Amino acid sequence: MPSAYAFLSLEMDTPTLQSASRLVYKTGIAVIGAGQAGLSAAYHLKKQGLEIGRGFVVLDQSSHPGGAWQYRWPSLTLRTVNRIHDLPGLPFSDTVAGNQPEVQANLAVPHYFEVYEKTFGLTVYRPVKVKVVCERDSRFRVETDRGFFSSQGIINATGTWETPYVPVYPGAGLFEGVQLHTRDYQTADAFVGKHVVIVGGGISAIQLLDEISRVTTTTWVTRKEPIFRSGPFGEKAGRDAVAIVEARVRKGLPPGSVVSVTGLPWSPAIDAMRKRGVLDRQPMFSEITAHGVRWPDGREVMADVILWCTGFRSSLDHLMPLMLKEEHGGIVMGGRLATMVAKNPRIHLVGYGPSASTIGANRAGRAAATELMDYLGLTHAR
Ligand SMILES: Cc1cc2nc3c(=O)[nH]c(=O)nc-3n(C[C@H](O)[C@H](O)[C@H](O)COP(=O)(O)OP(=O)(O)OC[C@H]3O[C@@H](n4cnc5c(N)ncnc54)[C@H](O)[C@@H]3O)c2cc1C
Repeated sequence: MPSAYAFLSLEMDTPTLQSASRLVYKTGIAVIGAGQAGLSAAYHLKKQGLEIGRGFVVLDQSSHPGGAWQYRWPSLTLRTVNRIHDLPGLPFSDTVAGNQPEVQANLAVPHYFEVYEKTFGLTVYRPVKVKVVCERDSRFRVETDRGFFSSQGIINATGTWETPYVPVYPGAGLFEGVQLHTRDYQTADAFVGKHVVIVGGGISAIQLLDEISRVTTTTWVTRKEPIFRSGPFGEKAGRDAVAIVEARVRKGLPPGSVVSVTGLPWSPAIDAMRKRGVLDRQPMFSEITAHGVRWPDGREVMADVILWCTGFRSSLDHLMPLMLKEEHGGIVMGGRLATMVAKNPRIHLVGYGPSASTIGANRAGRAAATELMDYLGLTHAR
């Protein structure tokens, strides 16, 4: 596995240029993040003739392969995820766990990524955390916790896991119980004997509500009335949902949540929850108190835990100096699949907005690799 040693050999092998105080490793394209989106981009960069090191580098802050999947809760199995789409060139079902629905996603997907990296010789430099990217002398200076890189282009694939979103409610600081986010969840057993307020109307909220309500009492709160969608979520519905998010980012609006577009798929598990009486959705409370949550009419529910299943935002803080965001908080995206930052075509964001799914990340990786190589004139090797 490429680790400290591989990083060291990169230092030795890559042509370097001296900066005032530190070495800078010069490369064509810096891919930041090695989840589904970053690996797909890396596969296509390599396939189209770029060599690792001089042509492109893949940097990832995690110590092991797996993207954010390695951090997800153990009860998320291949049966309960929506679907893990194949990376280009190697079907997921060809790996050991690929066809076993009860296998934990946090084991199966990292294993798949590890095999994938090895199969295609996609060296990932890890753990390397990108702290900040800025422009210098018409190149990008990529500052990491392990040194500096200088690149002509950036493919950013840092996902959302690092940026959990918790809305602000009055009194949050007064609460004497525990406030957690989906990101912190491991097992329902941790909540036995506690009353848990679960906030959120997405797929993760429903899954955690299902598990926690089997071992303790819960209150389920959502901002909007959840819309359950009956019938299978076909390809057309998927394309329509992606098109809505794509239209938003092309206008420079924040991507928004996909569930707000697709609704929640009705399933036997949800039907069983309804029968158990745990789908008794409450509107959003207006205030958090020392011992619970309170609604505008004065009604209060005592709680030991507030579990915020309120989603994630794109992890883009390291790109802040590039000033990509518009006044609405979004980024105007262009290119074939809306992966290219319109105001700076040398930067692509994959796994962002319409490509924030395993299938979307795959396609985005390919589009970004092709368009960026063309734009930078790196296509000679094709
Ligand atoms: C709970 C949950 C369940 C999901 N279930 C499904 C599903 O069933 N099907 C589906 O298609 N999609 C699902 N998704 C969405 C899906 O996981 C992602 O959209 C998809 O895997 C693409 O991942 P990614 O490559 O964009 O990001 P990630 O998998 O998050 O990878 C990002 C990588 O970037 C690295 N990184 C982050 N910041 C830095 C930095 N500053 N420097 C260096 N490296 C950095 C991280 O270490 C990580 O390896 C789910 C998402 C969540 C949160």
